[in-house]
Amino acid sequence: MYASDNSSSLSPKGLWETARSQLRLQMAKGTYETWVRDTICLSHEDGEYVIGVSNAYARDWLSMRLRPLIKRTLASLVGHAVDVTFVVQPAPVHDAAEDAPRPLLEAEPLVEAPMFESPALAGNGANLNPRYTFANFIVGSSNRMAHAVALSVSERPGAAYNPLFLYGGSGLGKTHLLQAVGHMVQGAGYRALYVTSDVFTTELISAIRTQTTEQFRAKYRTIDVLLIDDVHFIAGKEQTQEEFFHTFNALHTANRQIVLTSDRPPQAITLLEERLRSRFGWGMIADLQPPNLETRIAILQMKAATLGRQVSNDVLTLIAQRAHRNIRDLEGALTRVLAHAELLSRPLNTALVEDALAYLAPAQSRLSLEAILDTAADYFGVSADDLTGRSRTAKIAQQRQIVMYIMREAAGASLPQIGAVLGKRDHTTIMHGCDRVTEGIESDAELSRVVADLRARLYEPVRVR
Ligand code: ADP
Ligand code: MG
Repeated sequence: MYASDNSSSLSPKGLWETARSQLRLQMAKGTYETWVRDTICLSHEDGEYVIGVSNAYARDWLSMRLRPLIKRTLASLVGHAVDVTFVVQPAPVHDAAEDAPRPLLEAEPLVEAPMFESPALAGNGANLNPRYTFANFIVGSSNRMAHAVALSVSERPGAAYNPLFLYGGSGLGKTHLLQAVGHMVQGAGYRALYVTSDVFTTELISAIRTQTTEQFRAKYRTIDVLLIDDVHFIAGKEQTQEEFFHTFNALHTANRQIVLTSDRPPQAITLLEERLRSRFGWGMIADLQPPNLETRIAILQMKAATLGRQVSNDVLTLIAQRAHRNIRDLEGALTRVLAHAELLSRPLNTALVEDALAYLAPAQSRLSLEAILDTAADYFGVSADDLTGRSRTAKIAQQRQIVMYIMREAAGASLPQIGAVLGKRDHTTIMHGCDRVTEGIESDAELSRVVADLRARLYEPVRVR
């Protein structure tokens, strides 16, 4: 089929070995060792390579994230386009415990049966929702840092960033990311345990009541990775904090990984003992911000694809515009739109979205271009004239570009409309400004925060003064 095939001299096995060694040079060491090193080429036919991987996480990760790079690398070796499929190649049957990395602490016997009974979560020792994986986590400027650190912690638990403290508003992906760490380290053979701080508290109280605190301690101090969700709920609970302090120390001293989430940074958790507050900041603190429009659309695309639904980009964009606050709302909005279409047998178009999501529509008056301009001026502490004027100082120029971006995103205004409001600027200037912000948000956390703040102001309920 192909005129020339440079690979003919190499066996599939040899070829894959060569590809692997090239891939190693093209990615972070941790990424390579976690996902690529132990893969094998199972078969090769007509330019299609079937690569065997050890577990489903690796398969999903390779398919979602690394496939383009792997295809390119293989293609450059064989001299023509190739396709790659990843399949789980079950490991030989043996005791899973043998797989686990040797514990750093002398393990005490675990006397208890698993404490988690939720049927939805049964099936893995760490109490994890199967949906909350890295493969299902969309990365954008709002969560890039948190994602990168979580991934790095998963690749080498206990080695750096210990503890990892993730914080952010409700519905922004803290639990998802925390459990993704759990899935990944479990896939690599570590013993992980996920609990909310409420469950930790409840178990502690019940252990005290039934005089089984030794078992309680054994359970929490003999794991490799402890994942505590919503840790702010231990505020004000003295005994829980005392016990958690000792758990923390035991694990940390033994280089076991601890990951915590909270709705706010440690210094903002009131009624938290100082010694815990300071420990929470020992490793790395990373935050999750509300996602921007592009990320929201990407998340909707993934969700729609997962549900096997064909949804046009117009529809997804409108849903993303309406449900901007957090990702939980975004998912709820998509579900609601799909349900409307199904139950009312209506075509899945923007008119349907308007109806289904009427409750989310902002008061139009607050999203007029003039209102956005005023809110932005107020937010930046400048006058509207500064923003529409000719000043070219870097600061004003950037603020002006942020306004262009927000007008485009929140009001869905056209480039000429925005140009007219912003001092009769040309539509190419507006386009350039929007692009600058779109790109800047990706790498500039401060810019990303400012845009999220300003957006939140526009949508927040009118304050009565
Ligand atoms: P939090 O714990 O911060 O309140 P969750 O982790 O429960 O938020 O996330 C809320 C919902 O949004 C979950 O269904 C989760 O899967 C989804 N979600 C959050 N962040 C992302 C993301 N980056 N990509 C895809 N889905 C996400
Ligand atoms: Mg949560």
